[in-house]
Amino acid sequence: MTKRLGIFGYPLGHSLSPAFQQAALDELKIDALFDAWRIAPEEFAEAVNGLRADDCLGCCITLPHKEAALELVDELDPVAEEIGAVNTIVNNNGQLKGYNTDAPGFLRGLREAAEFEPEGRSALVIGAGGAARAIVFALREAGVSRLTIANRTEERAQNLARDMSRGRFRPGATSLEIDQLANTAPYADLIVNASSMGLSGGPSPEETPVPAELISGNALCYDAVYVPTMTPFLIAAEDAGARVAGGLSMLIYQGAEGFKLWTGQDAPIEVMFKAAREKLAGR
Ligand code: NAP
Repeated sequence: MTKRLGIFGYPLGHSLSPAFQQAALDELKIDALFDAWRIAPEEFAEAVNGLRADDCLGCCITLPHKEAALELVDELDPVAEEIGAVNTIVNNNGQLKGYNTDAPGFLRGLREAAEFEPEGRSALVIGAGGAARAIVFALREAGVSRLTIANRTEERAQNLARDMSRGRFRPGATSLEIDQLANTAPYADLIVNASSMGLSGGPSPEETPVPAELISGNALCYDAVYVPTMTPFLIAAEDAGARVAGGLSMLIYQGAEGFKLWTGQDAPIEVMFKAAREKLAGR
C-alpha cells in the first residue's frame, strides 16, 4: 500500500517540503507520497484526525497550526511540550504523537552547515514567535553563555524569556529600538533573525532587524528566513564583515528529523538540499 505524508499549512505558498521530502522518499525507494495539504484553521482538527488512517505515516505542520496541534495529538514529546508547538506528527497505529523538530533542526544546521558551536557563546535572537521559541530552546540546551531576545513587541520577548528561563539560564529581553539593540548586538557571537523581517512576500521584505553598524565582524549571523537566500539582514551582516548563513539548513534538518521519525531511516541530506535548491531556483 502506498503510504501518505504531507504538510498542513494555511496558506501554503512557499513550502519547499513536498519537493525535498518526496525526493528523499524516492531516493530510498520508500513507497509513499508527500503532499501539500492547504487546511484552514476551522478544518484542522478534522484533518489531524484523518492522520490516524492505516495508510498515513504522519505530517509536518507549519503556520498557523503549530500551537493548535498541541491539543489534538494523543501524546506529546517533551521538547514539543516545552516549546509549546508541534511541527511533526507521527501516526503509530492510530495513535498520534507530536514532536518539535525545529529545535534540533536549527541546531544541526548551525553546527553542520554554518560550522558554529554555540556552547559558551553569547547570542541575540530576534523575534518571539514560534521559530524564536524553538531557537531559544535549542540554544539553551546547547549551553550558550548569555542570550537576549529582541522583538518588535517587547512584552512577547519578556514572556519568551520567562518561559525559557531555567536554572542560571535567564535570557534578557528588549525591543528592536536601535538604542536597545546597541547594548547587545555588537557583543553577540551569534545573531539569529527568527522574525518575519526580510521574508519575501512577508510584512517587511526590505528591512533588516539589525543594521550593519551594530554587527561585530566576528559574529555569525543566521537568518531563519530562506526566501530570499540573501536577506537584508544577511546583506547587512556581510557589510559588517560577519559570517552569514541562511535558514535553508534549519528547514532541511527539521525535515530530516521528521523523515527519520516517519520512516525509521536516516534521511539522504544531500538529496534533500539539492531538491530544495532546485525548487528555489525555479521560483
Ligand atoms: P510567527 O510565530 O508569526 O512570529 C513572527 C515574528 O516576527 C514575531 O516575533 C513578530 O513580532 C515578528 N514580526 C512580524 N512582522 C514584523 C515586522 N514587520 N517588523 C518586526 N517584527 C516583525 O512566525 P514564525 O513561525 O516564528 O516564523 C518567523 C520567521 O521564521 C518566518 O520568516 C519563517 O519563514 C521563518 N521560519 C523558518 C524556518 C526554517 O526552517 N528555516 C522554520 C520556521 C520559521 P511581534 O511579536 O511583534 O508580532
